[in-house]
Amino acid sequence: MPELPEVESVRRQLDPELSGKRVLEVWVDPHPMVPRQFQRIAELKGRRISCVGRRGKFLISPLDRGLELVMHLGMTGVFRFEVSDPYTRASLTLDDGRRLIFKDVRRFGRIAVVDAGRYDTIPTLAHLGPEPLSDEFDPGRFSLWLTRTDAPVKPFLLSQRPVAGVGNIYADEALWVARIHPASRRVGPKRARLLHTAIREVLSAAIDREGTTFSDYRMVNGESGRNASFLFAYGRGGEPCPRCSYPLRKIVLGGRGTTYCPRCQRY
Ligand SMILES: [Zn+2]
Repeated sequence: MPELPEVESVRRQLDPELSGKRVLEVWVDPHPMVPRQFQRIAELKGRRISCVGRRGKFLISPLDRGLELVMHLGMTGVFRFEVSDPYTRASLTLDDGRRLIFKDVRRFGRIAVVDAGRYDTIPTLAHLGPEPLSDEFDPGRFSLWLTRTDAPVKPFLLSQRPVAGVGNIYADEALWVARIHPASRRVGPKRARLLHTAIREVLSAAIDREGTTFSDYRMVNGESGRNASFLFAYGRGGEPCPRCSYPLRKIVLGGRGTTYCPRCQRY
């Protein structure tokens, strides 16, 4: 499932392709399970895309006439410039003659047009925490969030409220780097600062490697990210901890597979 580094890699490829282009035609899969995720997409027709930005795992493109295009890859969404296949959910014909295809096997992705900045129909985006690599992500405020909640730290990170864009992969990674047990409810100011630094480190490193590919995530050019072989904990249950060699343990926490080191990640 694409997280912030994967979405950022897609953004960096889409931005030069879409900036300044006008949308001439819009097509959406008529399958009954699809339409809710493509709210107001017909209004894209005739609009000019100024650039492709990002907030958390959302791609956001300002359009003319005070509108905004919001795109989310869901679990399996992929953008390509090529011919449609049975998994094509939407396509945009651009004024340079090319067609941008949105393929999505599992159908959790979405492409919506909204009035700029009005995200009431997209609650996760409306309540999104600060961008982790911006100055908005302040260690003091992050620490306050963590001391005030009584939720276990990993599910709390996944809520996107204390910080945007951290999903299952990078939550496991950051908690391993900061030596914090994923179910801990006692993350004090000192450990909160370590976690703040760790989140930035693992996300920046993954962006440099164009994200982590397991099965579905691909960039616009069809290539995989290179981060998978650099992971410390995620997906490595049973393997020795890279720090202390004790076998990493896999548990289910808040409904999500979670891997951690029982020896060096403290509750
Ligand atoms: Zn360890």
